[in-house]
Amino acid sequence: MPNIRAIYRQRKGQGMKDLDVYREKLLSRLGELDARLHAIESELDVPHSKDWEDDAVEHEGDEVLESLGQAGQDEIRRIRAALARMRDGEYGYCAKCGEAISEERLDVLPDTPFCKTCAA
Ligand SMILES: [Zn+2]
Repeated sequence: MPNIRAIYRQRKGQGMKDLDVYREKLLSRLGELDARLHAIESELDVPHSKDWEDDAVEHEGDEVLESLGQAGQDEIRRIRAALARMRDGEYGYCAKCGEAISEERLDVLPDTPFCKTCAA
């Protein structure tokens, strides 16, 4: 088990010149998700029709919305964690092994805390 904190300290200030790019990406994604979640929430607040014919269909729709909401909430948590790692100077390094996460990977998954090897 490598001492990841020590590796972070050692590497602080090296590389990761594009941190702002990822910060922008994460923040704009966070804004998007937030807006989507609020839209979902307000739809979930709509009272159900008392008509028995519509009831099953409406409940099915709600499940989809709720799971969308859950996935969105999970992503928001990941993004917030990534922003916190950025503040701590740990962003861009694997939370498991301390290796630098490739820029190609961060471009696709800016909120990932793991390198390709550890995530596999
Ligand atoms: Zn790793």
